[in-house]
Amino acid sequence: MNSQNEQLMPDSLELPDIMKSLEQFYMVNRTDSDGSITYINKNFLDTSKWTPKRILGKTLWQMFPETDAGQNQAHAIWNTVTNGKTWFGNAEKITRLAEPYFVTLIAIPSMQSDGKLISVTFLELDNTDEVHLREQLQEIAFIDYETGLMSRYKLETAVNEAIAEDKHFSFVYIMIDHFYTLKDLQSPESEKELIKSFTNRLKRFFQDNPIARIGVNEFVVLTPFGDWYVQGFLQFLEQQPIYIDNSALPLSVSGGIVRYPEDQSTYNHLMKAALVATKEVIDHGGKKIASLSSASHQGLNRRAIIDRKLLTALNHNNLQVVYQPQFDVAANKINMYEALVRWEDAELGYISPDELIPIAEENGLIHDIGAFVLEESANLATKWNAEGQTLSIAVNSSVREFKNSHMKEKISKILEETGCPASSIQLEITEKFALQAEEEQSIILQMKELQDEGIQFALDDFGTGYASFRFLQSLPISKIKIDKLFIRSLLTHSKTQQLVEGMIKLGKSLGLYVVAEGVETEEQFELLKAMGIDAVQGYYISAPISADMIVLD
Ligand code: C2E
Ligand code: CA
Ligand code: CA
Repeated sequence: MNSQNEQLMPDSLELPDIMKSLEQFYMVNRTDSDGSITYINKNFLDTSKWTPKRILGKTLWQMFPETDAGQNQAHAIWNTVTNGKTWFGNAEKITRLAEPYFVTLIAIPSMQSDGKLISVTFLELDNTDEVHLREQLQEIAFIDYETGLMSRYKLETAVNEAIAEDKHFSFVYIMIDHFYTLKDLQSPESEKELIKSFTNRLKRFFQDNPIARIGVNEFVVLTPFGDWYVQGFLQFLEQQPIYIDNSALPLSVSGGIVRYPEDQSTYNHLMKAALVATKEVIDHGGKKIASLSSASHQGLNRRAIIDRKLLTALNHNNLQVVYQPQFDVAANKINMYEALVRWEDAELGYISPDELIPIAEENGLIHDIGAFVLEESANLATKWNAEGQTLSIAVNSSVREFKNSHMKEKISKILEETGCPASSIQLEITEKFALQAEEEQSIILQMKELQDEGIQFALDDFGTGYASFRFLQSLPISKIKIDKLFIRSLLTHSKTQQLVEGMIKLGKSLGLYVVAEGVETEEQFELLKAMGIDAVQGYYISAPISADMIVLD
C-alpha cells in the first residue's frame, strides 16, 4: 500500500465530511431505486430552477430533454447504475422551464449487500459555458470536434465552392440507423468509439471526397461518383464491421442521394431533397441509400418554383380573393363571408392555399399575402357598408404574421385607409396559431388590443387539435368553426354525431358563436340546425365565389 497516500488522509475524514465538501461545489441530487428524486441540494435548485416542493417525487427522466436523444441518455445512465456501475460523462439536462443546460455528471449507485439498488447519487458540474464556447469555436473552426470531419457550416461553404466551380457531384446524406437504441452502446466511450470507427469507414471508402458530420449520427459526403458507387458503401460496411468491446456491431445506415446540378441547384435545396429521399428510404424499412423517387422530385421542384414565382405573382397582382358565404340560422340569411386566397399560374396551374400558405410562411411572403387579402376584404366590406348592407368578412391569419410585433398596427392601418370599421372584420386562427399564441405574450396582447377595437377572433378547424378547449379560456375567442372533418362523417358515425352535439353545447354554454364548416348536403344542414348550430358554411350554401359574383339582396 502506498504509505504516502495514507499519510495524506487525516484520520477524521469520513464520508459525511466528503459529501459536505462536494456539496459546496457540485449540484447534488439523489433518487430512490425507482428513479424518483428524494434529495437535492441548493446548487442543484439554483441551476435547475426547481423548488424543493415541486421537484420531490419527480423522476430522473424528467430532468432530461424530452427528445429521443435526451431520454435515451437518461436510460443509458439508469441502466449503468442499476447494474451496480458508476456512470461518468457529459450530459444535457433541462431546467423546470425546459431550458437546456450541460453538465459533467457522475452517477453513483448505492447497493445492498445482496446487490439490490437502494439509491443513486448524482454529482454534477455545470459546463454549459464550455459547451457553448466549444460550439462557437466549432463554428469558427469549421471542424467537427469529435471526428475531425467538416462541420455543418463548412459543408455549406464547400458545397457553394463546388457550385461556383461548376463541378458536378452527388450530395449524399447518410445516417446510422437506430443510433440511440443500439445495443452495446451503453457508455459515452463506446458511442465515441463507434463514431470514430464509422468515420474511419467513410474516409476509407470515399477517400479524398469531402465528408461532413452534421449531427450526432448524420453525415454528408460530396462525391463525383453516382448511385452505384455510393451504394457500394453498404457492402463495404458489411465487410468491414465495427467492433465495440470485441464484438462486431450489427450496424445499418439509411441515406439519400441528390445530384448537382441535375436534381437541385442550391445548398438548401440539396439538403432538403436529400432528407426527403432518406425519409422515403426509412418509410420503406431503411438500410438503403437511394435517390429521390421521381414523384417526390416533381413535388420538390414544384415547391421550388412556387417559392420563386410567388413574389412576382404578388407584385403583378396575380393573386385573387374569393369569398364563401356563411349562413346564419336564426336570421335565416347570409351574414358574412370568408375570404380565401387563390392563385392560378400559366406554368404551375392551380395552386391551392394548402400548398401555397406553408411555402409563404417559410419564405416570409405570408405577410404580403395577409395584407393583400385583408385589404381586398376591407375594401369590399366598406363598399357593402356604403350600400347599407351589414355584412362582415372573415380573414384567415397565420401565426407567422402575428410574430411581427407591429401586426396590430398594420391591421389598424389597413382598416383606417380603407375606411372599414373593425366590427366588419373577423380574423380566423388555427390551432397551430393558438398554441404559439399561448407561448408568446406579445401575440395575445396584440389579439386583445384588436379585440378592444372591435375585431372578433374565430378558432378555425375546431376539434382537430388536442387543446381546442383550453384555447377558449386562454385566448380572446368569440367564435368556433367545427372542422369539416366532423361534418363529413356526421350522418354515418353516431360517435361523430355525439361529438358535434357536444361541441355545439359546450360552445354555446361558453357564450360562443358556433359555426359548422364543410356542410355539403341538406341532411347535414337540417341535423345541425336541430342541434342548435348558429351558422353553417359549405357547398350546400355556396362554394367560394369571386366578389363580382356575389348577389346581395
Ligand atoms: P379553411 O380556413 O378551413 O377554409 C375552408 C376550406 O374548405 C377552403 O379551402 C374552402 O374552399 C373549403 N370548403 C368550403 N366549403 C367546403 C365544403 O362544403 N366541402 C369541402 N370539402 N370543402 C369546403 P381552401 O380555399 O383550399 O383553403 C384551405 C385553407 O388554406 C383554409 O382552410 C385556410 O386555413 C388557408 N387559407 C386560405 N386562404 C388563406 C389566407 O388568405 N391566409 C391564410 N393565412 N390562410 C389561408
Ligand atoms: Ca378559415
Ligand atoms: Ca377550417
